[in-house]
Amino acid sequence: MTAEILNGKELSMELKQSMKEEVALLHKQNIKPHLSVVLVGNNPASRSYVNGKKRASEEIGMSSEIIELPESISQNELLDVISQLNNDNRVHGILVQLPLPKHIDVQQIIEAINPKKDVDGFHPINIGRMMTGQDTFLPCTPFGIIQMLHSRNIPIAGQHAVIIGRSNIVGKPVGQLLLNENATVTYCHSKTKDMKSITKLADILIVAVGRANMIDKDYIKDGAVVIDVGINRLDDGSLTGDVDFDSASEKASYITPVPKGVGPMTITMLLQNTIKAAKGMVK
Ligand code: NAP
Repeated sequence: MTAEILNGKELSMELKQSMKEEVALLHKQNIKPHLSVVLVGNNPASRSYVNGKKRASEEIGMSSEIIELPESISQNELLDVISQLNNDNRVHGILVQLPLPKHIDVQQIIEAINPKKDVDGFHPINIGRMMTGQDTFLPCTPFGIIQMLHSRNIPIAGQHAVIIGRSNIVGKPVGQLLLNENATVTYCHSKTKDMKSITKLADILIVAVGRANMIDKDYIKDGAVVIDVGINRLDDGSLTGDVDFDSASEKASYITPVPKGVGPMTITMLLQNTIKAAKGMVK
């Protein structure tokens, strides 16, 4: 079997086109969706991510700003910035780019964001709503993965989904979203024994580990759908996923590439969440 490619870049472009139209309509109603991105310090990867978010916002005609703060900022100063953004009616979405410097209590910062403006979907209130299947801001990477599956009408209900990785931002929530859509979900992580015997049962295999090319065809059942979340930079500067794309493509029915797979969908879902916030759809 040679896998069909799930191209996240192309799907993102289609979704952004319809969001552009939606933003133009909102402008006519005097609603101007606005995203504020908080960047602390000078991490080059974080800088590149926030620039990508700003660029994508502009592409759909949505305003956004990057609030740059020094690495040395104190917890209280950062909380003050969040409080100002919470109280600013012009701002619909607030995103604090992670990771934050070690001296900052990240959880306290996340919990300081007004849940109505939590377009990353990381606030415990929004996580609780997601867990209980209520409408809310879904975390962007898991939301993007679900959209990719829907875009090709890939069945989820009754399928066995195996997730490798259990982070709060990817692994755990993507498993929850698949469960909400009636998949049978199994999580694997660094303490899992004989992982291959589990992944080979997967109809849908989601890999979110952060280890270049760790999953090859030996981990994959014939015809499985393989979603590669990993972003790993190799010594030559190129990007690769957690899945050995060529090997896995021999067995998978669908597979996401890296780049142009899950990554572009993550940013696109952030835009979608910001539009949702501007429309006041999350209380
Ligand atoms: P993370 O917080 O570091 O979590 C990694 C997970 O992988 C952990 O649950 C860990 O298990 C598990 N793990 C580590 N080694 C393993 C092994 N040998 N076998 C099985 N499981 C193992 O990472 P993350 O934030 O979820 O990100 C994962 C990858 O996705 C990274 O490459 C990241 O850059 C990428 N990412 C991409 C996007 C995107 O938009 N495409 C978004 C977010 C993240 P334990 O829990 O037991 O430690």
